[in-house]
Amino acid sequence: MTGIHVKSPLLTLYDLHSHTTASDGALTPSALVARAVAMGVDVLAITDHDTVAGLEEAGRAAGGLALTLVPGVEISTQWQNHEIHIVGLGFDVGHPAISALLSSQREKRLARARTIAQRLEHAGIADAWAGANRFAEDQLVTRGHFARYLVSIGAADTVAKVFKKYLSKGKPGYVPPQWCTIPEAIHAVQQAGGQAVVAHPGRYQLSAKWLKRLLDDFADAGGDGMEVALCQQSPQEKTILAGYARERGLLVSQGSDFHQPCDWIELGRKLWLPGGVEPIWRDWPITRRTEQSIVAEG
Ligand code: AMP
Ligand code: MN
Ligand code: MN
Ligand code: MN
Repeated sequence: MTGIHVKSPLLTLYDLHSHTTASDGALTPSALVARAVAMGVDVLAITDHDTVAGLEEAGRAAGGLALTLVPGVEISTQWQNHEIHIVGLGFDVGHPAISALLSSQREKRLARARTIAQRLEHAGIADAWAGANRFAEDQLVTRGHFARYLVSIGAADTVAKVFKKYLSKGKPGYVPPQWCTIPEAIHAVQQAGGQAVVAHPGRYQLSAKWLKRLLDDFADAGGDGMEVALCQQSPQEKTILAGYARERGLLVSQGSDFHQPCDWIELGRKLWLPGGVEPIWRDWPITRRTEQSIVAEG
């Protein structure tokens, strides 16, 4: 069952990384659910940054639809001076271990966002706090909201350019984060009965040596898996990441990291796993199309 690029009606399509307006996504949880169904996704995890606030609405919206929702979250962690994102999947949303960790993360987010606003205002950006909050619409403020505000006032043309000019390391609006550690994130997710996955390992601008070090530490801390399939990714990179997963006995995951409708990232698109890896959903009860139907097909 390898190398499948297009959606087969008999295969279960998993998209295990996506965002809503509960963090820095542009679609409400209901709209995201509707879009996932339209895109043929069978199993969706909404993984907002440090919050599960979107999951209840999503659950209501998915009721009666041909979509299985897996509880999810994307936790910001700190590792060796890098910000590493850990996706939690399949945990008990109300478990005190995850609630405590996420509320501490949100306090840190709020404090950081206030400092980012001060620094931006210092750098000549007026109303940064109010502006970012308008884009966050009463939800958690992320750097994505600052970026959209800065684009809206013409400080740069695109969100990517805003990050480059203002929000990334060494730039005027950058505030070093104080997130939890990787073992803390893994522990909270697992205590709540879920699995912990390294998000988008290719996106941290780490050399191969440092990326392997990160994955070693993650595996040593008892982490479950790593993402190897994202929308914008070369087959070569996928193959390399799959090798890293195999070497460490990590399961593999896939997700679009969808934030908003755009030309190059879509829910459920271009997500396929290379051969010789074990998917994170290996032991999940599949509620819609059974693994038997996949075996029957292949
Ligand atoms: P935060 O969690 O507040 O640090 O914000 C991180 C989010 O900002 C990421 O999840 C992305 O959605 C977005 N982001 C980070 N870097 C970039 C970038 N270079 N270009 C566009 N969006 C970015
Ligand atoms: Mn984001
Ligand atoms: Mn991320
Ligand atoms: Mn994400």
